Amino acid sequence: MTDCLFCRIVARQSQADIEYEDDAVLAFKDIYPKAPIHLLIVPKRHVSSIMTMEPADVEVVGRCFLAARKIGEARGLAERGPRAGRSSTTCTSTSWPAGG
Ligand SMILES: [Zn+2]
Repeated sequence: MTDCLFCRIVARQSQADIEYEDDAVLAFKDIYPKAPIHLLIVPKRHVSSIMTMEPADVEVVGRCFLAARKIGEARGLAERGPRAGRSSTTCTSTSWPAGG
């Protein structure tokens, strides 16, 4: 058991509306969406923050951004382009602008 909410979601110990998963990352709906489509994409390997990431974390963090692109393409949002933000605890918080 871990204190990290995202690791608990990855381990299915906490509920989340999972939208995408592969071997390296998990994407789920933000509980407090700030856009019509607002997903949190987190590495399955715990990376507590961008500020503390290590060279070994580079690949999984990169995979999060790749996942953002794939999810956007799958939903036909590719031309709008994801807006990747960052927070202290997630690798990427990604939303797509409204409209279309
Ligand atoms: Zn974690």
